[in-house]
Amino acid sequence: MTEIQLHNTLTGRTEPFTPLKPGEVRMYTCGPTVYDYAHIGNFRTFVFQDVLRRFLQLRGYRVNQAMNLTDVDDRIIANAAAAGKSIRDYTEKFAQAFFEDCRALSIETPEHRIRATDHIEDMVALIERLRANSLTYESDGSIYFRISKFPSYGKLSKIDVSGIQAGARVDVDRYEKESARDFAVWKAPKPGEHFWETRIGRGRPGWHIECSAMAMKYLGETIDIHTGGIDLAFPHHENEIAQSEAATGKQFVKYWLHAEHLLVEGEKMSKSLGNFFTLRDIFAKGHKPSAVRFEAGLADDLNTAQALAAAFDLVREANIAMDKSEFRKADAASVKAFLGKFDRIFAVLQDDDDEKLRALGYGGSGGPSNAEIDALVAQRNEARTRRDFAAADRIRRELADRGIIIEDTKDGGVRWKRK
Ligand SMILES: [Zn+2]
Repeated sequence: MTEIQLHNTLTGRTEPFTPLKPGEVRMYTCGPTVYDYAHIGNFRTFVFQDVLRRFLQLRGYRVNQAMNLTDVDDRIIANAAAAGKSIRDYTEKFAQAFFEDCRALSIETPEHRIRATDHIEDMVALIERLRANSLTYESDGSIYFRISKFPSYGKLSKIDVSGIQAGARVDVDRYEKESARDFAVWKAPKPGEHFWETRIGRGRPGWHIECSAMAMKYLGETIDIHTGGIDLAFPHHENEIAQSEAATGKQFVKYWLHAEHLLVEGEKMSKSLGNFFTLRDIFAKGHKPSAVRFEAGLADDLNTAQALAAAFDLVREANIAMDKSEFRKADAASVKAFLGKFDRIFAVLQDDDDEKLRALGYGGSGGPSNAEIDALVAQRNEARTRRDFAAADRIRRELADRGIIIEDTKDGGVRWKRK
């Protein structure tokens, strides 16, 4: 079995994957901030973590995954106040929409799907732990993380913080690398804002402390994999590392995976390695598509572009073979077996096997079902047998109007295909 290789943002290298505990993968995924409907760019990240999760499961790992919903941050506080709603009332609609969208995309539900607002106590406890280690300071009721106390600050995003003046602060949750400063782990309420009454005072958590507290609560102080969009690497993930490692003295995450890297690497590799040609060649020779080599495409840095290319090439080859009447029953079985395995990871094909082939390239969606076409073809055959050529032609035209081409083969049989 090919070793799993993952591109780790922390080291900047593609590395073999070894879990902390044999057979188990502890994985944290930054979920959506539910201040609005999630857009397609967000879902690319969620589809990628789902592909990773399914792939690890296929390789026999037990996956223990936590995904949070950020249901309190600057934007939510502002939007909820503007709408005159409580935070929970404001975010509920967007949280439900996210769950529905995940179902529509066949994204598996993680073992722990958790909300930030249900874990305020865990965040307060983590801030107390940081405070006890003199890693924080207070200003106007807000509490800030002192980045000068964490010498490896910047190791994920590779920013240089040497020129930053001690005590310079940033209050907003999202900011650019140029604004790297001591950041807020706890924010004092502005007039009219929602707040929690806690041991560390009135206020609300900063965005970054949410994920540190929840990841460690559900998965432990050191976890295998942390995923998220590349836009989260700074400041969000950098700050997660600082808070978690400063509190525990342990490495927080072994493998940091960011969705954009996976895509970029995948496209590069599909061009340079060209594994899919090998698969295509094997299939063109009439052998069973090599499921292992497929898996190799994925194992190599979760190379989805390469794996997808292999699947599409396979279907294209199958089409060409069918056009040449070279597609045998044995081939169909291999293609179905391959697509079955493919589907376990990508979950993009929901229908029966015949429909799966169709979904990957046999004409457009819609149109009559295979069963309906077969029935009409049988009626046409019957009409021809009784020499009712007018009826046979009518059925052929009806099918043509609905996008189905009928071809009579040399051996007296009939084939059909979608336009
Ligand atoms: Zn997060």
